[in-house]
Amino acid sequence: MKLITKIVEGAKDILPADSYKWQFVEDIMRKQAMSYGFKEIRTPVFEHTELFERGVGDTTDVVQKEMYTFKTKGEKSITLKPEGTAGAARAILENGVYNDGYPIKAYYITPCYRYERAQKGRQREFHQFGLEVYGAGSYFADAEVICAAKSVFDRLGIENISLELNSIGCKKCRPNYHKALKEYFASHEEELCDTCRSRLDKNPMRILDCKSPVCSEIAKNAPIVLDYLCDECNAHFDGVKKCLDSADVKYTINPQIVRGLDYYTRTVFEFVSNNIGAQGTVCGGGRYDGLMEELGGQPTPSLGFGMGIERLLMVLEESNIEIPKPPVCDLYVIGLGENAQIKAFNIVEGVRNSSLIAECDIVGRNLKKQMMYANKINAKFTMVIGDSEIENNKAKIRNMATKEEKEISIDENFFEEFFAVYVEDGNKNLLDMINKL
Ligand code: ATP
Ligand code: MG
Repeated sequence: MKLITKIVEGAKDILPADSYKWQFVEDIMRKQAMSYGFKEIRTPVFEHTELFERGVGDTTDVVQKEMYTFKTKGEKSITLKPEGTAGAARAILENGVYNDGYPIKAYYITPCYRYERAQKGRQREFHQFGLEVYGAGSYFADAEVICAAKSVFDRLGIENISLELNSIGCKKCRPNYHKALKEYFASHEEELCDTCRSRLDKNPMRILDCKSPVCSEIAKNAPIVLDYLCDECNAHFDGVKKCLDSADVKYTINPQIVRGLDYYTRTVFEFVSNNIGAQGTVCGGGRYDGLMEELGGQPTPSLGFGMGIERLLMVLEESNIEIPKPPVCDLYVIGLGENAQIKAFNIVEGVRNSSLIAECDIVGRNLKKQMMYANKINAKFTMVIGDSEIENNKAKIRNMATKEEKEISIDENFFEEFFAVYVEDGNKNLLDMINKL
């Protein structure tokens, strides 16, 4: 086979045999977000480039190196979303969602695009689940968002993941810290990588986030942001810690965490796994009180997180956590001859209407091949209909696990009799059925 082209580097297909894993974790994400009072927001996959330049910050890696930006026919510069927050914030402002009052609590599940070197845990198209809170300045909001992220790991049974916490101060106290950092890094200017040298003036905190071994070694002895917090930031940080303690959430204070995006203030956090190699950060978030104003709105205390779904799935795999297999076919009906095929088609359509899974042949296979197919898809029951079955309005339904056969009606009594057999098959199936209805 000679395909005319292949998938774009850094992207991955999610195939039918694997999609149940995505659906399972996304389902838990939606449920957890809902139980914390969040509703879904869906924003376009592309935005005007300036939204990210301003929203994410033009000294960040994301804006400087990683954006997928192109000109449309009208010559406007468009960028594929590299993260979920800027688009959500724009949508809240543009649609006046704040008119309904605060707090605004929204969650998203979205693809993101970053032009990065593709490697394990790092793709050019990847997916994020995230929470957004607007109009909540209290430290209870920080604790709520952190607990909501943790609840996803808990519900999935992930234990080996640690929460790292820091505060990076506010507009008032950060300039003092910047000054101290600048002085420290200036004394190592020669050793820093080119990017970091250019960051020295504009945003020295970015150097703490640099992945080059030399810069990160130098960063180890840099001044610590927590020593520069103002009283309000200290009190806020204490409040967050108190809430987490009360919920028995364990954390480590890590003053090196500054996060990759420019809009963060005060609380920043990461959930890190040791199981999946160098790209161990599964979730990153914090407070971004300056963002709404930066985008042209009123000053609005805001916060949230982004969780990488690919990395989360890697953690599940590395931790040998089984994702429940998707439900299998409840009934496969084989029709022999055209009349019987029509009858089979008619029966499976009816079964599908009651939310069970039913199939019949759509590729023109003979009896033996259809039986093999029913086995392959693990059908729970099979039924063969031929001319004599149609004449008598009765057919044998076979329980594929027990090999037991029962004769049931295939006229208007079919559904009642089929469900009786289905329920008889055991409580588990009964429960399955009730859950599905
Ligand atoms: P990293 O330090 O790994 O580059 P980041 O600081 O750029 O991460 P964020 O912008 O905070 O990451 O994104 C939140 C989460 O999204 C990350 O913790 C990670 O799980 C996931 N993520 C970010 N970039 C990628 C990528 N290129 N491929 C897969 N997942 C990613
Ligand atoms: Mg990154």
